[in-house]
Amino acid sequence: MPALSANHPAKNRLIVHQSVDRRSIKRPGKLCENDPMSINFRQATFLTSVPRADQAPPDEGAEVAFAGRSNAGKSSALNTITEQRGLARTSKTPGRTQQINFFDLGGNQRLVDLPGFGYARVPQAMKEQWQRNLTRYLHIRHSLRGLILLMDCRHPLTDYDQEILVWCADVGLAVHILLTKSDKLKRGPAANKLLAVRRQLPGFHPHASVQLFSALNRTGVNEARRVLDDWLCCGA
Ligand code: GDP
Repeated sequence: MPALSANHPAKNRLIVHQSVDRRSIKRPGKLCENDPMSINFRQATFLTSVPRADQAPPDEGAEVAFAGRSNAGKSSALNTITEQRGLARTSKTPGRTQQINFFDLGGNQRLVDLPGFGYARVPQAMKEQWQRNLTRYLHIRHSLRGLILLMDCRHPLTDYDQEILVWCADVGLAVHILLTKSDKLKRGPAANKLLAVRRQLPGFHPHASVQLFSALNRTGVNEARRVLDDWLCCGA
């Protein structure tokens, strides 16, 4: 499986749906029938940080990973969803920013904070190393149920975002997008942005879903939790 390329915008690529290796693409939004919110996200605790995907905790149970460009609001979203102010600070600890951070939800369920990608100021070789690490993790984890992809709602679907979406479609991994910092836009423009992204999505991933999210005013927190709950509890 090729690593995500740092240079080629996904929009210039054909989406080739290879034989999906171990997952079939799931459609987010299908809720558990009996228990609409069975995971207590507040009980999340830091489990471990690893520099490489092959050093991750045992590949058992279910996990959902969070990815996004640096500064997209990933840490804030993780903290808001788990109602723990300091949880994702772990991921900002020097030395851990380029690591894969695992948070335990109990019951063999985990949230995973992937290294922020697309830092403007890091050398190209380091960017490529991160991307190799990211794609390796996404590729080898059997317990991975889906990817939460965070994008600043004012700058969605960057080349990197597009490339990740195409890559996830190729390997059959479900993606749910949080358009973060929605409080920065007025209601009308935010709704238009959501609609525009939703319209463009099928060009990159056939079943990706998208919502508005704000860690500041808590827009979309329950909607995001329902997707997580669905994937972690009901996913294949
Ligand atoms: P990360 O690098 O993706 O983990 O991003 P952070 O969570 O650290 O957020 C980057 C910056 O965006 C910080 O200054 C946050 O305070 C700010 N931020 C994050 N989420 C929100 C939000 O929902 N609304 C607003 N207005 N700012 C946010």
